[in-house]
Amino acid sequence: MSFQRVIEWLAQNFQRIEVILPILAGAAVLAFLGIRHVGKRRSSIAVEELGVVEEEAKHPAEKPLEIGDEFSEIRERTLEILRTRGALRPAPIAGKEGGHYPDIVGISLNKVEDFIEDLVKKGLALEGDVEFSAISCPLCGSSSQAALVSCKNCGSFKVHELRYYRHTCGYVGPESSFLSDGELVCPHCKSSEGMELYHKRYYCGDCRKDSEEVNITFKCGSCGSLYDESNMALKQFRRIELSRERLREYEGVNRELAAQLQRLRAEGYVIERPATMVGESGVVHSFDAVAKKGDEVIAIVSSLGKPLTQLLLELGIAKMDLKLSGLIVITGKPSSPTERDFAKSLGIEIIEATRT
Ligand SMILES: [Zn+2]
Ligand SMILES: [Zn+2]
Ligand SMILES: [Zn+2]
Repeated sequence: MSFQRVIEWLAQNFQRIEVILPILAGAAVLAFLGIRHVGKRRSSIAVEELGVVEEEAKHPAEKPLEIGDEFSEIRERTLEILRTRGALRPAPIAGKEGGHYPDIVGISLNKVEDFIEDLVKKGLALEGDVEFSAISCPLCGSSSQAALVSCKNCGSFKVHELRYYRHTCGYVGPESSFLSDGELVCPHCKSSEGMELYHKRYYCGDCRKDSEEVNITFKCGSCGSLYDESNMALKQFRRIELSRERLREYEGVNRELAAQLQRLRAEGYVIERPATMVGESGVVHSFDAVAKKGDEVIAIVSSLGKPLTQLLLELGIAKMDLKLSGLIVITGKPSSPTERDFAKSLGIEIIEATRT
């Protein structure tokens, strides 16, 4: 089917449903642009508003996490932690990453961040307050660094500390004036007790000046560049809070998905989960699962984190592009009569997951 025809088909089928026409118009244009772009140049373009239009050459590791993927075990473990504690708390850690979520072990911070982003996108978790910000390199982003003092006057690193002591008799002087055979003795009253550190100054071996303050310069442990307070980058670490309402929805949808897959397996279908399929247009479509038996292909999608109407619209395009024999959408929320009519006109079956 050509794009002209896709758009015509959409127009014919959707005219009846006036309420969704404005959304349709916008999305159809986006879809058209996205599809045309991918089809013509075979390059990657991400039309994010339309989740079905995926970057073609995306590395599998960068793929958004889907139910049943390689992280499903970590996801389940994390959700269990969220369920019992209500939130994930970051903690600072020395090293390149600057911080981590100690409850999620076994994957890198980058993956954890992708994973949390996915939870947030699905509405299962919310980003809470910033718990801390780690200093990081403005060039490479690494939080591995050596913190060095430098002279405020000339920038030299040849800076050392000068300690001043005060004795209970009132005498104040540099450490050198108190040193006598390796011990601290008051040069004023000769007592060896009751000395306290009074203040510190910093002496620069290059410009030979001393001052009360120094600059702090960081040397990046990853790329070696020097930076300071004025140009350092900050990595924010936020608390991640569970959305209990959405978790119940998610669990209901997951249970229903498992039940549907079991039914299809019993009917002799072979299940692929998650699944991606390339349509006639060259667009890659992603589904939670695909069931195949002979020429029959049924795609199964959960509606988490996306308004149902928008999802139906995308799936309507995907269904045509892939010539699917069936498409099942599992929702965690009750659908409206308009949404059900819309799904019917597209040949999509809506299954509402029951909640416990
Ligand atoms: Zn200096
Ligand atoms: Zn004294
Ligand atoms: Zn760096």
